[in-house]
Amino acid sequence: MSNNKIFDYEVIIVGAGIAGISAAKILDNNNISNIVIEANNRVGGRAKKAPESFGNWFDLGCSYLHEGEINPFRTVAKSLNVPIDHQNGDIFSIEKTKYLFGEKPLLINKKKKIEKSYNNFLVELNFYRENVEDNRLSSCLNINDPNYPILFDYLTGLNGIEANLVSARDFASVNEGKDLIIESGLANMIDKWATGININLNNQVKQINWGRKQIEIYTKSKKYVCKSVLLTVSNGILANEDIAFIPKLPDYKIRAIHNLPMGILNKIGVLFEEGTFKDNQLGWYVVTPDKYQNKISEIFSFEIRKKEKEHMIFFFGGKKGSDIENYPKKYYKKIIEFIKKQFGDNIEKNIIKLIHSSWGKDPYSKGAYSYALPGHNFERDLLKKTLDKKVYFAGEATINKTYGTCHGAYISGNYAANKIINDLKN
Ligand SMILES: Cc1cc2nc3c(=O)[nH]c(=O)nc-3n(C[C@H](O)[C@H](O)[C@H](O)COP(=O)(O)OP(=O)(O)OC[C@H]3O[C@@H](n4cnc5c(N)ncnc54)[C@H](O)[C@@H]3O)c2cc1C
Repeated sequence: MSNNKIFDYEVIIVGAGIAGISAAKILDNNNISNIVIEANNRVGGRAKKAPESFGNWFDLGCSYLHEGEINPFRTVAKSLNVPIDHQNGDIFSIEKTKYLFGEKPLLINKKKKIEKSYNNFLVELNFYRENVEDNRLSSCLNINDPNYPILFDYLTGLNGIEANLVSARDFASVNEGKDLIIESGLANMIDKWATGININLNNQVKQINWGRKQIEIYTKSKKYVCKSVLLTVSNGILANEDIAFIPKLPDYKIRAIHNLPMGILNKIGVLFEEGTFKDNQLGWYVVTPDKYQNKISEIFSFEIRKKEKEHMIFFFGGKKGSDIENYPKKYYKKIIEFIKKQFGDNIEKNIIKLIHSSWGKDPYSKGAYSYALPGHNFERDLLKKTLDKKVYFAGEATINKTYGTCHGAYISGNYAANKIINDLKN
């Protein structure tokens, strides 16, 4: 490490994901000297675009603006002249979902039964909204219900982990709402939004000494000092101890990091020639290749979109999500076979390219997003807690109700920056 020059700021933000960017903007607006230190060669973190060769409008990470009615990125999009598709915000509703059972579309009365099963699940989940008790999320499902595998798989995708390992109370705190799409790519918008912030890329933080009045931060080649440091890295990074803390983090903080682990959600994108799909084929699909619908491992979901280009996005959560990273070719083959069976052999010649994400192996994320182990969702507040008015924590894992989302990361960054400003004054 060459420590000849020491870089001095009031606040240092570790990580240029959405939480880090939103915090930097607040500090800039309040004229507080700051810098964002980012390990990767790009901004955005889990907002990540595909390479040009596939199409940079394709989001390998986050893509939907959840809670569309109140999502703060609507204002951001407006200020950057980025159009949002407001028409299809109910794309995931049971009414709009196209269910395929044994490759055949589902009869209407069966769809009604799925709706009924889902409503029963919501009634059970409601208990955890109003009580302090907690349980496994899967306990809100009826294992004898024929639709159990579909709902289990749906919850696994949302949480990035099998529903029997997730806190029901944490999941119950999440609000439903519209899911809005940015067809030109959410990650593209985040790139634009980050313009103007002070940032050092390719600069992984290795060590933070926070025991004295002045905090020291070390990367491979630089030393920084500051009054306050804001950590926005994922819990995957913290749990792996990629950053050394001197003195070490308090026990309650270490426990919170481990009780809010990272789930896995991965996508496989398939790019097609223009003119492949008809308008009535667009939308959200849930597929159960087995007509007896009893194999969770065989269920999967995908979306067909026409913009920016014609493509399909397949989603795999939990164990299946991890598998993709180890055996992508196996999944590519399965997907091409499925597409041919569903849309006819001729479609194969229209396939241009496939791509997949690898969030579990991503060195700067180590997972897709956080989930709470049953009985531990209260630890999101402990993860967020400031140490000595010096070390602050933000990022999707630190926030209740909107954890695991872009707007959650945004809100957490805003909250932390305002707290820092307040603490610096006092
Ligand atoms: C496949 C997938 C799909 C998703 N879909 C959606 C969706 O549709 N809608 C939605 O709202 N949310 C979605 N999410 C979740 C959303 O992407 C995240 O909640 C959000 O982007 C997290 O932002 P963050 O700032 O908290 O963390 P990150 O984006 O992880 O930012 C942390 C930053 O820290 C950097 N970093 C790590 N280690 C170091 C270090 N040692 N030194 C310096 N920098 C470091 C990282 O490179 C990264 O840039 C999805 C996530 C995934 C993976």
